[in-house]
Amino acid sequence: AKDEGRGRHRFFSRSIHEASLARQLLQAELRRALDQRQFSLVYQPKVNLWTRQVLGVEALLRWTRPDGRPISPLEFIPLAEASGLIVPLGAWVLETACQQSRAWAQASGEELAVSVNISAVQFTDPGFVDMVERCLRNTGLPPRLLELELTESMLITDIARVQQTLRALQALEVCVSIDDFGTGYSSLSYLQNFPVQTLKIDRSFLKTVPDDPQASAVVEAVIALGRSLNLGVIAEGVETTEQARCLLNLGCAAMQGYLFGRPMAAPELLAWVQEWHR
Ligand code: C2E
Ligand code: CA
Ligand code: CA
Ligand code: CA
Repeated sequence: AKDEGRGRHRFFSRSIHEASLARQLLQAELRRALDQRQFSLVYQPKVNLWTRQVLGVEALLRWTRPDGRPISPLEFIPLAEASGLIVPLGAWVLETACQQSRAWAQASGEELAVSVNISAVQFTDPGFVDMVERCLRNTGLPPRLLELELTESMLITDIARVQQTLRALQALEVCVSIDDFGTGYSSLSYLQNFPVQTLKIDRSFLKTVPDDPQASAVVEAVIALGRSLNLGVIAEGVETTEQARCLLNLGCAAMQGYLFGRPMAAPELLAWVQEWHR
């Protein structure tokens, strides 16, 4: 029994070691990937079902390794955050997304607002606001066409500092939305004092709508909150017509999800928009 115990211990420590080795390898690969242009962006449309408007697109990062294997952002973003690579990578994402919005406008006259996900590490980087400003200047994108998606949890860590950063972004006239709303520690009082424009209802609540009355209640509450604070509300992860109908009944017409369009490469996205208007 004693031997077995020791064996097990050895087994565990080796597998922990292997896991951390795998992580280190992936991290090294990630660093190379930025130089070797293995990253790309896809874009998912956001629509308003009442007005039939296309509200804009969300830029989502993709990593395809040289062997053709795609790695999910859920896997590599945390690694990029841990290594600090998210700062240059995030700057690349922002610049590329802004350039793309400009390129669409120039090619088709279609002004598509673009939303970019910002990680906490990026947001707290002292150079963040300057980076956003430089990006707008370099690409010539009108700031109202840029939206930054922040998550709730990153807003409540150092409130004074967060408020300062948000005010600086407000001065640049870019929009800010709170992503995955409802999943964090919704301290509602902070919302009043933060210059944000939109609440994005997390996909997890949509999953069980309309069957689960509790999930529906959360969705309803966020919509009511948005209305009383004069904030826009959008639902993400809309997959079925039942969910869309339910959201419309609750008073939320802004939606994003596979029901309307999957994340697409830039040329497909433009074709999608033109098809939507037809
Ligand atoms: P997120 O910001 O909440 O993005 C929404 C995710 O839901 C995306 O996954 C999108 O492809 C997926 N999605 C959209 N509609 C539907 C739907 O109807 N059904 C289902 N099941 N899923 C839907 P994706 O692209 O794998 O991204 C995962 C997460 O990775 C994002 O969650 C975001 O947190 C992060 N991420 C992606 N791109 C970036 C980036 O450029 N920077 C940072 N910091 N994070 C990013
Ligand atoms: Ca997002
Ligand atoms: Ca989200
Ligand atoms: Ca999410």
